[in-house]
Amino acid sequence: MFDMGTDNLPTQTTSSRLHPPETDIGAISLYVHIPFCETKCPYCDFNTYTAIESLIPSYISALKTELSLWGSRLGRPRVTTVFFGGGTPSYLPAAEVESLLKHIRTCCNLDIVQEITLECNPGDVTLDKLSSYLDSGVNRLSIGVQSFSDSLLRLLGRRHTSSDAIRSYKLAIESGFENVSIDLMYGLPNQTIQDWNTTLEIARGMEPAHVSMYCLTLEDGTPMKKQVQIGTLPPPDADLAADMYMMCDETFSHPDYRHYEISNWAKPGNESVHNLTYWRNESFLGIGPGSHSYINGQRFWNIKPPREYITRLKTSHKEPTQSPVPNIPVVDEVEAIDRKMEIAETMMMGLRLDTGICIDQFSARFSDTPAKHFGSIISELESTGLVEQSSDFIKLTAKGRLLGNEVFSRFFL
Ligand code: SF4
Repeated sequence: MFDMGTDNLPTQTTSSRLHPPETDIGAISLYVHIPFCETKCPYCDFNTYTAIESLIPSYISALKTELSLWGSRLGRPRVTTVFFGGGTPSYLPAAEVESLLKHIRTCCNLDIVQEITLECNPGDVTLDKLSSYLDSGVNRLSIGVQSFSDSLLRLLGRRHTSSDAIRSYKLAIESGFENVSIDLMYGLPNQTIQDWNTTLEIARGMEPAHVSMYCLTLEDGTPMKKQVQIGTLPPPDADLAADMYMMCDETFSHPDYRHYEISNWAKPGNESVHNLTYWRNESFLGIGPGSHSYINGQRFWNIKPPREYITRLKTSHKEPTQSPVPNIPVVDEVEAIDRKMEIAETMMMGLRLDTGICIDQFSARFSDTPAKHFGSIISELESTGLVEQSSDFIKLTAKGRLLGNEVFSRFFL
């Protein structure tokens, strides 16, 4: 069965009321959530909303308040990457992105920042917006193309066409962006191998610096899942999806592109620095409703409703809140990640990378080799052809990449 590891594995909550560290956290990545979308795609279960544009000004103020609170709590932390995700960050007026970045610079130290990414919907992109992003310091765009088939874009409920996607990519390059990523989706109802091949060929011809390719997951409660359940759309075909996944590698092959993570390909030097933070299981702070953070062995996440998020940040100085983190009124829960869980998660996330787990780095971080913790599991995975190992690394094989979740689950038994 095709199972390349895009699902979240269950984790164990060990506490719900802890205090994240206040200072000396080292450099972190910063995620900023923009929960606005013009329309809701039928497959999407992200924390995003339509028809709440009137909240944008108060939402931006609330984000700035949360940033200020974390900035002072963490001692103006050093930030290596900023990622505006959503939702649809490009749906915001460009001036709001500029003012947010200005504010981030006051709350965080961006002296060593390497990458500032903004997610764009192809329908939103104009030369003026792109120039403004560049002037504000954004140096990487991630464009949600999804497909170059207009009929599949309609099925996905996207508000752009294939030509909008090509036009937005060209505008991004013309305006001066050197690092532009495109997102594509496969394993869609009614999608044929020929559809996918056409999309891959068009994408390849554009020569993007970075490509992310995601297999559709039918999330509970989404309109698309309901359509499949009642039979108005065909269910996903795992074998066909596996064939489509292998076509990604054939199209975006060495030496031009590096298949550096299960779902990501990049021209060398254009790997997503922000996402590498997640895959290396390093520290990041998420701002905005529903955002997750992981700092010094503690994971915490914010309340999800944007209105409540705004209200709590407006009134926090007047009323006590139930937040488990003093003075940060929007944190919903905090979970302690004990050493055993951190080690298992580091294995799971690191194996997603083509470089796999570097034995020296793992040993420096945990004072023990992976074999000490998972010797018999690694040997068994090696004997079934899912991982390979040397004295320097442990990594997934090509077969292991197709069966990622099966491999990862072994580290959580
Ligand atoms: S644009 Fe993206 S975030 Fe918004 S509804 Fe569609 S998939 Fe979800």
